[in-house]
Amino acid sequence: MANAVPVAQKPCAACKHQRRKCDQNCVLAKYFPTERSDDFENVYHLFGMQNTLKILKSVEEEERDATIESLIMEAKMRLEHPVHGHFSVARELSIEIEKTEKELEIVRQKIHICKGADNRAGPSTRGGQSDQP
Ligand SMILES: [Zn+2]
Repeated sequence: MANAVPVAQKPCAACKHQRRKCDQNCVLAKYFPTERSDDFENVYHLFGMQNTLKILKSVEEEERDATIESLIMEAKMRLEHPVHGHFSVARELSIEIEKTEKELEIVRQKIHICKGADNRAGPSTRGGQSDQP
């Protein structure tokens, strides 16, 4: 026997949070299904409902997935780093890159020194290998 009662749509995280009925016209249902309620609450806490909708409507349809992911990431970063948000992570990574580039330069200098020492020793110590990588 078929069930005559239509299956109720599960409210999205946004509608569930706002305690309203979620229908097919819900703009946020695609981005915040029920399973992503934590993500929605983080975004809601940081941006608010109206700003989230305003941001979403201000971008082209094909950019909305990336926009929502960006809002979610920003909200998570703000939770982990309340003062500077993602900027503190970017700064840490920038310092890490700078440190690694200095290490790379030292390694290049050591390689250059070793190659110089190898060239002075003469071609017979290389076992017949060429200089080309
Ligand atoms: Zn909804």
